[in-house]
Amino acid sequence: MFLIYFIKLFINIRRNFFIAKIEIFLILNFIFMQKIISNLVMMSLPKYRFFDIAANLADAQFTGAYHGKQVHEADLDEVIQRSQAVGCDRLLVVGGYLEDCKHSFQIAQKNEKFYCTVGVHPCRVSEVENFESQEKYIQELEKLIAEFGDKFVAIGECGLDYDRLEFSSKEIQLKHFPFHFDLAQKYNKPMYLHNRNTGGDFVKMVKEHRHKFSSAVVHSFTGDLEEAKQIIDLDLFIGINGCSLKSKENLDVVKDIPLDKIMLETDCPYCEIRNTHAGANLIQTKFLNKKADKFEKGVMVKSRNEPCNIIQVAEVVAKVKGVTVEELTEAAYKNTLKLFNLPDTATPSS
Ligand SMILES: [Zn+2]
Repeated sequence: MFLIYFIKLFINIRRNFFIAKIEIFLILNFIFMQKIISNLVMMSLPKYRFFDIAANLADAQFTGAYHGKQVHEADLDEVIQRSQAVGCDRLLVVGGYLEDCKHSFQIAQKNEKFYCTVGVHPCRVSEVENFESQEKYIQELEKLIAEFGDKFVAIGECGLDYDRLEFSSKEIQLKHFPFHFDLAQKYNKPMYLHNRNTGGDFVKMVKEHRHKFSSAVVHSFTGDLEEAKQIIDLDLFIGINGCSLKSKENLDVVKDIPLDKIMLETDCPYCEIRNTHAGANLIQTKFLNKKADKFEKGVMVKSRNEPCNIIQVAEVVAKVKGVTVEELTEAAYKNTLKLFNLPDTATPSS
């Protein structure tokens, strides 16, 4: 449609420069109106309620630093405000190693509906390996559990990741994943799990220790239908974000995940739904953004995912599953409260 419009415009420029000027004015007006509409969307009351179970808000990108370089001022408070504007009133600020867990706890204290985890991400287990001993490291984790109180809702992020062995070898991942099951058992908490391309090792290990924990979510799911079935058979939940919606095959898997097993997440600042993703054309809500080096306060940063984008994940998943966004978001929200053993409240703002 736009192509035809621009061809017409080009012909008009040649034919009549005055008419072309009016047309350019109309296009600019259209772009400007889009800006106003998107701002209005941000200002209106949220229609849905979301619980982003993968908000890595301790990531340096939310302080304005990218690859170790300070590019713009910190804007975490604006990021949180935007998430609340779409109805994302609850967040799990995920921790992946000692310092990260401490930082996540600080952020979780910003709001009574923000929570945090304690555990070691598979790509960070070299920290445990290089510590005095695994036992001493676990003691440090347990100190955090005691300190975090009600904010601490799950053991994790932990699991296996064979896609990024450059950070930690398979051997040390397999060595330091199991103690998390014991912590879940000791503190009677659910687990927050990560699994990437592990060819059955992850499911095998979870099965082996399944009697130790009440339930868990396998977040950022990118596996096939067979793996989804294995996880569901273990009575665990599945977290869906932009990385789960990349290909047509991914969408087919998501279609078959039952509503009572699904959770929604962004895994921000990573895993945004890119234009090249199979699910991208199902997005209805779009936000303005600017490149990090052209940062403008109150405007999203291009390519940096943030919790408000959870509405886009919900729109794609709802379409794929043939349910309304409300049906999906309510199911996911309630599943999450159930897993983390949190009380429900009637309205998003209460
Ligand atoms: Zn993860």
